[in-house]
Parts: sequence; structure tokens; C-alpha cells
Amino acid sequence: MKKNGGIKRLLIANRGEITCRIVATCRAMGIETVTVFASDDKDLPHARAGDFAVLLEGTNLSETYLNIQKLLAAARASGADAIHPGYGFLSENARFAEAVTKARLIFVGPPAKVIALMGDKGESRKLCQSIGVPTVPGYDGAAKDIKQITKEAEKIGYPVLVKALAGGGGKGMRIVESAKELASALESACSEAGNAFGDDRLLLEKYLVRPRHIEVQVFSDTHGNHLHLFERECSIQRRYQKIVEESPAPELPEKTREKMVKTAITITSHIGYVGAGTVEFIMDSTGEFYFLEMNTRLQVEHPVTEMVTGFDLVQWQIDVANGKKLPVTQKDIKQNGHAVEVRLYAEDPDKEFLPAPGTLHAFSPPHLPHVRSENGYKSGNVVSASYDPMIAKLAAWGLTREEAINRLHNALSQTHVSGVINNRAFLMRVLEHEDFRAGKTSTDFIAKHKKALLEAHYSDDEIASLAAAYLLFGSATTQATTESKTEYSAWTAGLR
Ligand code: ADP
Repeated sequence: MKKNGGIKRLLIANRGEITCRIVATCRAMGIETVTVFASDDKDLPHARAGDFAVLLEGTNLSETYLNIQKLLAAARASGADAIHPGYGFLSENARFAEAVTKARLIFVGPPAKVIALMGDKGESRKLCQSIGVPTVPGYDGAAKDIKQITKEAEKIGYPVLVKALAGGGGKGMRIVESAKELASALESACSEAGNAFGDDRLLLEKYLVRPRHIEVQVFSDTHGNHLHLFERECSIQRRYQKIVEESPAPELPEKTREKMVKTAITITSHIGYVGAGTVEFIMDSTGEFYFLEMNTRLQVEHPVTEMVTGFDLVQWQIDVANGKKLPVTQKDIKQNGHAVEVRLYAEDPDKEFLPAPGTLHAFSPPHLPHVRSENGYKSGNVVSASYDPMIAKLAAWGLTREEAINRLHNALSQTHVSGVINNRAFLMRVLEHEDFRAGKTSTDFIAKHKKALLEAHYSDDEIASLAAAYLLFGSATTQATTESKTEYSAWTAGLR
């Protein structure tokens, strides 16, 4: 394989499915890869996915995947000439980007100062306001006095949403319905944000009722070219985090789509953006949309964009980091067909989607046409409480939205997961739901349809007696007894 002109050996400062995803593109480009792993991750696929592997010694994140010095040392020791941060972890940490560049390594991502600017929800809001991009009405001043903050909240009008300025992953967010709830919401959001981000500054925003989360994939190179790869709809969320994503956004008027992608490009050209990014918008029921935040990295849900546009976004990231021009112009980028992705988590939909770590006795996603499965784990691995419990992502493409959904539903039905409680059956019911099928997506979808989506609910006693009944019939297997309880409806159906 002919070597790419620039980066020859890339270290991936991450874990799980995204490390494997980046390795796959590097292989196709003839770039060697270095993967890193913490000792409790030594049996996971990512640990051995690359050409070289470096153990990050330590027992907690600050000693392993979040340790800048150890990652730089791993790059030096393995002879890597570049670092890809993946998503999460240090991917939006300006200090990390700067340290990588200072160590004379290529950082596969935007310059540190752009990360710092857009990573701060307050700064990026101000910037958007200064260039005429609408932001959600809110207050991001420095007031600490509760009287003053209460005045600001009244100006905005209840309900308001309290958010962490340094936020991410839905942490530090509180909905406040009236003035009397404000003080306690500020206090708990402040301590959650301080613990999660080491930064307890807060922002107040008007809480939009039943909005949609629609985001635009952007890409810029170092030659001043700023492109977009259209939008993704990510409204199906729990705990403010996405679990189903798709492209194009269903039932989005063409005019709104055009305005949204144009707005995203206005932002990236104004800040001189470089690399892959996502401009997130929140759209109210009247179709007005507002800037929410910008993520200066590759997004978990990037496969749906790849499936409808036909481009490899990791390849583009590497090309841009090598100083190359983006390979196409805007008119070459089209939305072809439809793609939908689901995030398969070890979590309990019956218990407010709390993580459900444990040993994944068996995991086997199917190999099907037009289906992508990006896996962070294999059978026998432990889904640890120390990390995000996403087991895998499954995405399907179809000429129509219906075809894509049907293919994804079929793929989920053929995915075998046992040993940990998981959301596989829940995701299938989302895909089956008539409102989802009709494209009626909004961020309250799961709360609104909770009853229907949790319909196969059995109490622990019922599960025990069903399992006993199954044993009496003499054909129980370890698979059956270790299946998630949300799976019981399928194998007990014949007993009723
Ligand atoms: P984070 O950075 O923690 O992911 P975001 O600002 O991106 O936070 O918001 C995450 C989700 O929270 C959004 O997708 C949306 O569902 C909800 N959200 C955020 N801001 C608002 C708002 N002003 N009104 C209603 N929902 C909101």
C-alpha cells in the first residue's frame, strides 16, 4: 500500500469503537496505528486493533485516557507522528491540542484556540450573537447574586434551563419551572458542573418545549474552504443524550434545511475553522432554530452522514491535518437516500436508563447489506462502570427512510446480546413506534411515549417465575437465563 504523504503513524488517544473505526480508515490509507489501553481494557477489541499498542498504566481516567503526559510519552515511545483524539475524553481539550502541537506532533483536529473558543458555551453564544446567528434567549452574565439571577430568569420567562458553560453529555442541566425552584437548581447544577468539568460557571436559557435537535456536519481545510455535509436529526434522547440519529432530518422543510446549513457555514468561515465539526441547533415547534453549541471533533453519529454522502470523514480529517485541500466542492456533496443509527447501551430503560455494567457473555451483531456495526466490545468482555456503557452502534442505509428503519430494525433483531441489561429491545420499540415512523421526532419523544416503549415490562418476580417455567420445559440455556430482562418477552412469548 502506498503511504500517504504526511502522517505515517497515528496514535489514537481513545478507546472502544471509535479507536477501531479510526484504525479502519488508517489501514485503507496505508497509515500505521498505535492504540492505547488501560489495564482493565486489555481484552477489549481496541487494545489490539492497531499495529502497535501501548499500555497506559494506572487505575483511573486521570492516570490513563485523560493523562496528557502519558499519551505524549506513548506517542514518543511508539514513534507516532500524529494523534487523533476521537470523541469524548481529551478531544475538546484545548490544552491537549496545544501540548500535542508543542511536542511537534500533528493534532488531528482544529487549532487549540478554536477549540477553546467554541468549547465554552458562553463564548460561542456571544460570538454567534455578534454575527447575527440566533441563540436561545438566555443569560450568561457573571451575576452570582440569587436576586439578580432571579430577575434574569423572569426576563427570560419560565421554564428556564440551567446549564454548565463548560458542559457536555447533558451534565449540570436542570429545568426550572418557577422562581422558587431556582436557587436549589443553581446549587445542584453548580456542584455537578464543578465535579464533572472543574468549572462551575452556569448559563440560563429559555427552556424550549418539545424542540428538535438538528445539527450540521461541517468540514474546513487550511486553505479557507468551508463545506457542510448536511444535517442529522438527533432528537430521540434520554437524559439529554442522543440514542437514535438520522440523516436527513425527517419532514424538514427544504427552506429550513438551506437556512440551517448556511448558518453553520457562516460560523465556520467567521472563526476560520479547520477540520471536522458539528454545529448543533435546537428548533422550536414553529420551525425557528437557534444555535446550541459547536462540537469541534468527530461526532459519535458521523456514520449516518458517511452513509448518505458516501465520504469517509476520518479520511478527510487526516487529509486536512496533512494540509491537503478538501477533496470535493459543495456542489459534489449530496444526500443520497437515508441512514439511521442507534446506540446500543448496557443500561436499564426500566430504571431511568441507568448504566448496567457487567460481563457481556455474548455479543454478535449481524453482517447484513447496508448495515454498519461499530463495536467497542466482543463476547466475554466486561462493560465496566468506569467508562461510557455504549456497547456498539448500528446504522443502516436505505433508499427511503422506511427502508433504512426496516433494515436497522432487522439488524437489531438479529443482534444477540446477553449477560448485561441493555436497551436493544427498547431501541426496536422506538423504531417500531408509529410517531417515529411518521417522522414526529422531538426531544420529549421518550418521555411522551414512555409507557408504550417500556411495554414489555415484567417485574422481577414475574421474570423469576417465567424463568422457572422455562426451566420446567427442560430447554433453558445459559443464554436464556442471562438475557437482559427486556429480552424476556421474546423467549417467553410461547409460554403464555
Ligand atoms: P451538552 O453539551 O451537555 O450535550 P447541549 O447544550 O448540547 O448540552 O444540549 C443537550 C440537549 O439538551 C439538547 O439536545 C436538547 O435536547 C436539550 N436542550 C439543550 N438546551 C435546551 C433548551 N434551551 N431548551 C430545551 N432543551 C434543551
